[in-house]
Amino acid sequence: MEAKTTEYELEYYEKYFGDVKQVKKTVENCPNCGNPFFFTHSTDHKNLHVKETACCTNCSYGKRKIVHVMN
Ligand SMILES: [Zn+2]
Repeated sequence: MEAKTTEYELEYYEKYFGDVKQVKKTVENCPNCGNPFFFTHSTDHKNLHVKETACCTNCSYGKRKIVHVMN
């Protein structure tokens, strides 16, 4: 039982990082000043969501919140 659970977790994380990489390619810079965004991620394993917050540390562009749904 425990071995099965571990396998599942590994597959799950590969998916998760793949998604984040793809997203970062398109939204990694501030449209206002071009500075790279500072990202924070929190994963909701129960609902298969990744909550992503992007904010610029260089200007006052503000925060952008994105929720990715994984399935
Ligand atoms: Zn900025």
